Amino acid sequence: MNQNTKDFICSFCYKTRDEVKKLIQGPDKGIFICDECIVLSFNIIQEEESEINDHYVYTPQAIYDHLDDHVIGQEEAKKVLAVAVYNHYKRINHIATDIELDKSNVLLLGPSGSGKTLLASTIAKILDVPFAIADATTVTEAGYVGDDVENLVTKLLSAADYDIERAEKGIIYVDEIDKKSRKSESANITRDVSGEGVQQALLKMIEGAEVRIPPGGGRKHPQSEIVEINTKDILFILGGAFIDLEKHIKKRLNKTKSIGFGAIIDDIHDDTNYLNFVEPDDLVEYGLIPELVGRIPIRIGLNELTHDQLVKVLIEPKNSIIKQFQRLFEMDNVKLEFTDKAYEEIVKLCIDTKVGARGLRSVIESTLLDVQFNLPNYEKKGIEKVVINEDTITKQQEPFLVYGKKQQKK
Ligand code: ADP
Repeated sequence: MNQNTKDFICSFCYKTRDEVKKLIQGPDKGIFICDECIVLSFNIIQEEESEINDHYVYTPQAIYDHLDDHVIGQEEAKKVLAVAVYNHYKRINHIATDIELDKSNVLLLGPSGSGKTLLASTIAKILDVPFAIADATTVTEAGYVGDDVENLVTKLLSAADYDIERAEKGIIYVDEIDKKSRKSESANITRDVSGEGVQQALLKMIEGAEVRIPPGGGRKHPQSEIVEINTKDILFILGGAFIDLEKHIKKRLNKTKSIGFGAIIDDIHDDTNYLNFVEPDDLVEYGLIPELVGRIPIRIGLNELTHDQLVKVLIEPKNSIIKQFQRLFEMDNVKLEFTDKAYEEIVKLCIDTKVGARGLRSVIESTLLDVQFNLPNYEKKGIEKVVINEDTITKQQEPFLVYGKKQQKK
């Protein structure tokens, strides 16, 4: 080689041969690429490819299957949500063309403890996108005491570990949106204004806005400056119980039937969830502002969970409540078992409290309080297994303790 070493320079980053591990010559004299630039280029290509392929990995069927691992019942909701989310991420990964694809924000209507929050958070986990959750009742218009609507975006950014790009593709779940209806608060004039104001503020974010978030990037980014987050690709899922809306829809449908428009009525059976027939006008009448309703095109009704479904909620999901407690007991080398009748009684107590599956955990927590208090001593005492039967649930009797062969109960 008769070239001077200073001629050996990476044509991309201009580092010399001495500054890098490898320098590869191109077909033309004087053209080189270094090992660092090769790795960098490879990573850029991989990142772009994985972005483009993202929505192929999560087909509606794949999303549905994942949801099915965690959510009992709510078949229609799982299906509609799988398609909505698939379309949403297809839309944001879509390379701009002449056709603008509208966002498919979602409204989940159903009683407390039927799985609305669970569906939204599970979707976020499946897609590995940041997720923020807020209760609409604690959200106020800017200027009022409480959480500003903008705080939802702050929460999302924090969930994205302050990665702006990731936050902009996240999911925000706003619970109890029905409590922010104009009507529900008409008794109190100040809060009435705030209810509509919050809806307006939410609408702006759902439509897509640049939200400026003040500094305060937490411990990791204490020096961070004001950041701007564009909300146009954030998926908004709103949820609410919409008490009495079902009755209203039923009445409307019956009226339709009586004047002879029977086509959709054919779909109605004894166990029909009327919330699935909700129309924009029903929601406006309930107190949501029409513009907001217009921005939430996907509306899904969830059913109140039946007794049998609640038993399944206890046992079947991938990280069901029972499996979680069993794991906690395992950490103290003790097995935890429930009889079938115990499950039945837990569910009966829970149904009485009218909070759906939300009540299951607290029934179990209170049943197992004493046992958990003493659990660290069980292994020493030779106790290998705790069996919970129906009397432990209904009569607060001590659970059945099974001792190992070596040590007997003293
Ligand atoms: P909602 O938002 O409808 O009030 P959640 O999703 O917060 O209800 O439910 C509370 C808890 O109850 C969840 O964390 C989950 O453990 C359980 N749960 C509720 N619905 C279901 C369901 N359909 N399948 C499995 N678990 C459920």
